[in-house]
Amino acid sequence: MNRRVFLGSLGSLASVGTLAYATREPVDTVEVRVWLSEGAAQYDGVADRIREYLERFLDFEFWSLELSFGEPVSTSTEDGARVTSSGEWPVALAAGAVGRRDIDPVSDVNLLVTDGQMREAPTGYGLPHVASVGGARYIAELESVDELYDLSEVDTDRRVVPNDRRIRTMQILIHEIGHALGLQHEHGVSFRDGDAIVATPMLSSYAWSSNYDGDHSHCGASYPDPGDHARKLSFEFSTCARRELAEYNGGLLYSRQ
Ligand SMILES: [Zn+2]
Repeated sequence: MNRRVFLGSLGSLASVGTLAYATREPVDTVEVRVWLSEGAAQYDGVADRIREYLERFLDFEFWSLELSFGEPVSTSTEDGARVTSSGEWPVALAAGAVGRRDIDPVSDVNLLVTDGQMREAPTGYGLPHVASVGGARYIAELESVDELYDLSEVDTDRRVVPNDRRIRTMQILIHEIGHALGLQHEHGVSFRDGDAIVATPMLSSYAWSSNYDGDHSHCGASYPDPGDHARKLSFEFSTCARRELAEYNGGLLYSRQ
């Protein structure tokens, strides 16, 4: 799916004059709103788990996080990537912004979590201010951050966690939020930790993908050769990503008519 095609369809809905990109001074409050699809809403504890992880990993000294949840959303698909790449979720948000749907977008990040598959990429999709991701069933099974950190080996200043599907799903959720805030894959890094290669949220599985051509981060750090090393993850954004987030000054403007 060509991004331009569906941004075009979003643009035509926006041309009623209700939706525009804004540029602000770097912000001190970032609004993130999360919706669950009907499929995702079937599992207990998904919203609480997402709240806990986002309050931990999107909380920076340079902004305060304003996190909220919308009511479950009826969608035509549970596919966590296609619901955005097809235009469905962006158009639903735009319709909500003009009062045609009962969906109230916020200016910074509007994330839809579905029960889509997490085996094969793409499993999520992120655009400026709009993102979606599958995997609600895995989030429902994920332990708390503290339980997970008790299990992790901590011998660097960065916490390292296993690369299993539940954990990877939450990392991809954070990855798509990163895209919604303007981060690209090269804002991520990978680093050696003992015999493992650890990937931060924006690089994620690209750290060991032969299809990914980047060999260094946007800030110049080179990516170690993944070779046969064990694969591990970190939930913490790289210094390079944090530097970019500190400069975040975007936002959507809505005016209801
Ligand atoms: Zn990505």
